Amino acid sequence: MTEDAPALKPSTVAVTAGRPEKQPDAPLNTPLTMASTYVAGGDLEYGRYANPTWTAFEETLGALEGGRCLSFASGLAAVSTVLDLVGQGAKVVAPRHAYLGSIMQLADLEARGRLDAQLVDVTDTDAMVAACDGAALVWLESPTNPALELADIPTIRAAAHDAGAYVVVDNTFATPLLQRPLEMDVDLVVHSATKFLSGHSDVLLGAVVTRDDQLYDVLKGRRDLVGAIPGTLEAWLALRGLRTLHLRVERAQANATELARRLSGHPAVEEVRYPGFGGIVAIVLGQGALAADLLVHKTTLWVHATSLGGVESTFERRRRWKTEPATIPDALVRLSVGIEDVDDLWHDLERALDDLAG
Ligand code: PLP
Repeated sequence: MTEDAPALKPSTVAVTAGRPEKQPDAPLNTPLTMASTYVAGGDLEYGRYANPTWTAFEETLGALEGGRCLSFASGLAAVSTVLDLVGQGAKVVAPRHAYLGSIMQLADLEARGRLDAQLVDVTDTDAMVAACDGAALVWLESPTNPALELADIPTIRAAAHDAGAYVVVDNTFATPLLQRPLEMDVDLVVHSATKFLSGHSDVLLGAVVTRDDQLYDVLKGRRDLVGAIPGTLEAWLALRGLRTLHLRVERAQANATELARRLSGHPAVEEVRYPGFGGIVAIVLGQGALAADLLVHKTTLWVHATSLGGVESTFERRRRWKTEPATIPDALVRLSVGIEDVDDLWHDLERALDDLAG
């Protein structure tokens, strides 16, 4: 590329990053390298330290987020490696409605005296800023799962950095196509690559991205030691998923926008939560939790399932999980909108909602 060539657009990066060098007979895409060990004397050495298939995934996600990426066995493996950055007894601030597993991990670490977790309403910027005082790490999720709340990332980031704290954004819901936290000067981005990045409900994978070489080295060192590494097949499948991320996100977002509009006119729906971007919508049913439990069994296209971000539309009442915070409405159903035809999705939902209402 010449020096003044314009930077590649994210859709081009998604397709082209992490590919092998263009040479006769080279595969177009990085193949699966199944190896626990490598011939000594090179950079790889052992399968817990490095794998060319991970590297291809990491280069692609890193290029999309604008930093250096490390992949992990799951989103929660990435979360736990990042939380391990703080010293003994350190204060960690997080949204009270962050992903349930992240909150449970914080609670577990607090119960064992490892850290002091302060959970705050992430939409209350003043409260978040105040909580930054004395913090070692500020965890953000925006939009939150499943409440779909947004954080004022630049303001909270500035307060956290003034306090000397690391700032982390779990970017699972937005993906780097809709939000690039490293450009807002946060220190670390975390992903459950299980969701939109992989996109086909067949992979568990996590990732951390940073522009800070020192942080990268510390996290890589932890991954080497603890062994929370991705499977090679998972990294390969996730990379394959990344190649179509832009198409899937665009379609899921268009479907979600339209469904949010139609749902807000339905009499059985008391509240629609949609942050204006992304493929996740939440609805609160006026008739309560029982109606929500009935709804998820009345559809044919929409599948009752946890997780999100796949090409298939799925939904669930989040409070069916006993550990989900009581501040999440009992009758809230989280919809992960897929890439099917929007009218088909709507008719399936509308029929089930009509049954409840009538
Ligand atoms: N972060 C968010 C926002 C999530 O939704 C999830 C999983 O649902 C995770 C992290 C954890 O990821 P994983 O299930 O890949 O461990």
